[in-house]
Amino acid sequence: MNTFTFEDLKKIDRLKLGEDVPLELYRAIRLIGLNQGLPMEGKTTTLTIGRKIGSSLPVETVEDLFSIYEELKIGIPVLLEKTETTMLIRVEDCFCEGLPIQEGKMVCDLEGAILEGGLSKVLDKKLSVFEIKCNINGDEHCEYMVRILD
Ligand SMILES: [Zn+2]
Repeated sequence: MNTFTFEDLKKIDRLKLGEDVPLELYRAIRLIGLNQGLPMEGKTTTLTIGRKIGSSLPVETVEDLFSIYEELKIGIPVLLEKTETTMLIRVEDCFCEGLPIQEGKMVCDLEGAILEGGLSKVLDKKLSVFEIKCNINGDEHCEYMVRILD
């Protein structure tokens, strides 16, 4: 089957340019390509992409998920609160940090969906992740509310 795993993605053999791409390029894909380029700011697409990436991550625990999230430089997740049915997660150093504020706008839906896919895999539960704060909106951090459904 022609699929790629995260193991495959780590096989990098670029002689001159190496393994890193600038954050500016990630932002271009995220904000110009997906957010501006797709209908409804790409909402359903980012959800599908994010969940798929999250559920494909080689992780078994929430701690694994949080460390790979940081390793991949998506951001640094911090668990602020946890109940039976909810989790509140703050993401520090999100890719959007430093962009000009646009009140009323939140752009980190893909990153939330990655958390959703990953959490649902490691907890083996149905859950939804809602973006409730974003640097772009002028909030002090990007933040997500997780609702565990079963
Ligand atoms: Zn954000």
